[in-house]
Amino acid sequence: MKIGKRLTVQFAVIVGLILLSVLVSVYSLASFNARYFFYERLKERVFIVANIFFEKDELSKERIHAFEEKFQRTLPLEEIDIYDDSRKVLFHTNNHPSPLSNKIFNSIRINEEIEFSEGQRQYIGLHYKDNEGNFFIVASAIDETGEKKLNFLLLVCVSVYVISLMLIYFFGKYFSRKALNPIIDVVKQVKHIKLSNINIRVSGGKNNDEIQELANTFNDMLERLQHSFETERVFINNASHELRTPLTSIIGELQVSLSKERNQKELTTTIETTLNQSIQMKDLVNSLLLLTQIEDYTSTQTNFNDEIRIDELLLDLKQNINKRYPEKIVKYHSGALPEESNNLIIKGNKLLLYSAINNIIENGIKFSNEKQVICVLNCYQQKIKIDVIDQGIGIDKRDVESIFHPFFRANNARGFKGHGIGLSISKGIIKKHSGKITVTSSPNKGTTFSIEFN
Ligand code: ADP
Repeated sequence: MKIGKRLTVQFAVIVGLILLSVLVSVYSLASFNARYFFYERLKERVFIVANIFFEKDELSKERIHAFEEKFQRTLPLEEIDIYDDSRKVLFHTNNHPSPLSNKIFNSIRINEEIEFSEGQRQYIGLHYKDNEGNFFIVASAIDETGEKKLNFLLLVCVSVYVISLMLIYFFGKYFSRKALNPIIDVVKQVKHIKLSNINIRVSGGKNNDEIQELANTFNDMLERLQHSFETERVFINNASHELRTPLTSIIGELQVSLSKERNQKELTTTIETTLNQSIQMKDLVNSLLLLTQIEDYTSTQTNFNDEIRIDELLLDLKQNINKRYPEKIVKYHSGALPEESNNLIIKGNKLLLYSAINNIIENGIKFSNEKQVICVLNCYQQKIKIDVIDQGIGIDKRDVESIFHPFFRANNARGFKGHGIGLSISKGIIKKHSGKITVTSSPNKGTTFSIEFN
């Protein structure tokens, strides 16, 4: 069931129940009142009869006359019976007094006065004690006017209830539709948004209300989506471009080689060149894959549970890199270190972290034309800090932010090999290890990359 209909039904049921209880209370009160006053009138009749029959000798003529006059004004379908103590009928207004049960007589005797009803007829019974003996006076009548009034009231209540229910339902429907219309409007706008027109924004009306807030939240989401689609598009463009260059070169190389008869030496050179370019392409594809997968790594994964001692990792790195270069190109300094070696441990993926720091050190070697790179490890206030300091070409101030974006390469880096994705991978991996990377640099003097883990 849609919200609008549900709200209308809920509203109608609640108000309907409240109205029903009010109307039932009104009717019950009116009915109680009518019976109460009719009993009072019956009691008055019993009092008149008692005075006429039993107090005649003690009252003045005028009073007796007044009582007799009142006695003539009977109630509708009135019956008055007087019985002596042995339940013999002494007086009755009806030819055939309706027989009363022993139970009723006993009840009158015990309670002195009782009120009861049978069907529409209301009764009042009185145990009257006089100097001539004890008597039972029973008066009954039907409150025809009261019944008519009550029936009319019932009709009014039922009509009011039915009409009110209908009005409540229609007004509820009208107001819920009015309240939900802005949401329906937002939904309509959202349905029209596709990838091709993702720059469109949703309007939440002029009021500064929840709908406006919903539209703003949705617009924020669209903004983020648009940005990520844009980033993805640029990423795919750049990746295709980076892959096309070596592919074009491989195709060119092979076409030239096929254009005429080649000797063994020439063929070997062609194969070597194309093989090198293919290896480069494979490395690039692997890097691209890694870049897209980093976001999926989570600290709950089993391969993210290595206990990595950072000082050992840096020493490994230094030794491995130094093996590949003629000079002892990487120098390792340990600065302030903790007494507890546990404080040098980071939880994560050792291979990934190794490749992230390796990439930064190798960049330092590459962009300084193989000058020495110094790696300093410090640990203070339970924070681990690694500085990778080189004496290379440096980075222009305006490029410092961009170097972490995939495929960005600064102008002064054009003469060096690379695709511009190493740093974005390193940053992603470090972030996954709850670390952050910052850079300070002076063009033509050198660059320091600082990695901090909490
Ligand atoms: P690549 O090294 O393949 O170009 P990276 O993502 O590793 O890609 O680096 C991106 C860019 O950041 C580099 O092209 C370069 O402009 C700049 N950069 C990175 N490291 C250094 C460094 N140590 N010195 C100067 N520039 C650097």
